[in-house]
Amino acid sequence: MAKVVIIDRDECTSCGQCADDLPDVFAMDDDDIAIVVEGHSGSEDDIQEEIDACPGECILWKD
Ligand code: SF4
Repeated sequence: MAKVVIIDRDECTSCGQCADDLPDVFAMDDDDIAIVVEGHSGSEDDIQEEIDACPGECILWKD
């Protein structure tokens, strides 16, 4: 089963980096907090890069 990526909204710094880098996977909501685009088809490698780069350490693989 494909891994599921989630955002810890409490820790998001609203930097927008993930949405800039992978707009098919991440977007910013009305509160300027990152969200995961429903039904995205982003690769695990690309998402892992964003996990590693996220300054809030708030992009996570769901257990
Ligand atoms: S890279 Fe991290 S801190 Fe920045 S907007 Fe995305 S989830 Fe939030």
